[in-house]
Amino acid sequence: MFVALAGSELDLGTGTTAAPTPPVPSDDHFLAPAFVRTVVRELAGDAFFGPIVRGAAATIGRPVDRHGAAILDASRTPPGGTFLVRCGLLYRRGQGAADRLCIPAGGGLRAQVLRECHDGPLGGHFGRAKTGSLVRRLAFWVGQDVDVAEYVRTCQTCQRMKAEHGGPRGLLHPLPLPSRRGGMIGVDWIAGLPTTESGFDMIQNHVDLLSGKVHAVPTRTTATAADAAAIVRDMCLRSGDGFPDVLVVDHDPKFTSEVFRAFVLLSARPTTRTPTPRWSGPTV
Ligand SMILES: [Zn+2]
Repeated sequence: MFVALAGSELDLGTGTTAAPTPPVPSDDHFLAPAFVRTVVRELAGDAFFGPIVRGAAATIGRPVDRHGAAILDASRTPPGGTFLVRCGLLYRRGQGAADRLCIPAGGGLRAQVLRECHDGPLGGHFGRAKTGSLVRRLAFWVGQDVDVAEYVRTCQTCQRMKAEHGGPRGLLHPLPLPSRRGGMIGVDWIAGLPTTESGFDMIQNHVDLLSGKVHAVPTRTTATAADAAAIVRDMCLRSGDGFPDVLVVDHDPKFTSEVFRAFVLLSARPTTRTPTPRWSGPTV
C-alpha cells in the first residue's frame, strides 16, 4: 500500500516530514516499507529520475534541477522544478510546504499511487479532476495527468456504479400513426463500413414506418446534405408512394442543414427526433 500510517491522522509523506536517517523507513513510517523499498530500487535506473538522483548525490544533498545540476540561486525555481533527496527518496519541491514524492516508472508504483488515490479510502472513486489533484499533491512523475485520466476513464467500478448527475429525463412522445404507405419514412445511416470498389463506405437506410419496408442505398461518409436529400428524393420517386408526409430523422447535421431543408421541405414535413431507448422505431 502507498499509505501505512502510525496514527489516525493521514500524513501522506511530504518531503518536510522529519524522518530518521535510515534509508528504508520502519513500519510506522507514512509509507509502507515495501513501497519505499521499490521506490528506492527503481529510482537509480529510472530514465528521468536516475540522472537527478545521481546529480543530487554528487552535490551532497543540495537541491538540484531536472538535469541533476546543483541550484546555486535558492531563490529561483529552475524550469522543470527543484528536486531534493531525503532518506534515499527523491522529492520535487512543491509550491507550498509539501514536497511531492517522485515515483519512478518501473515496479508498478505509479499504478499503486493511482489505485490509492482513486480506489482507496482517500479517493472514493472521484472524477479525473479530484483524483488528479490528490495525485499531484502527493506524488510527481512526468505525464501523471495523462495517467490519471486514463486510469479514471477505465476504472471498472466507476463504469458500473457512476450515478447520472443530469436532470430527470422528460417523457417520450410516441410518433403519430402513419396515415398511408410511404407517409412516414425513417432515415438513418450505417457508417464505419469497409469501402467498396465503387467508393461507398456508408448506407443510407430508409424505413417505411407503416409497412416496415426497408430501402438501403449505398453512399459515402463524405456525402453532403444535398447528396443525402437527393437519395431520399430518388427513393421516394422510385417507390411510387410519393414524398412522405413526415420524415423521421435524428439530429445528424446533414438533416438539420439548410441545404437539406431547402431540398426536401418542398414536399415533406420533416420531424426531427432524437433516438432514445424507449422509442423502438425500426430506424433506431
Ligand atoms: Zn473508479
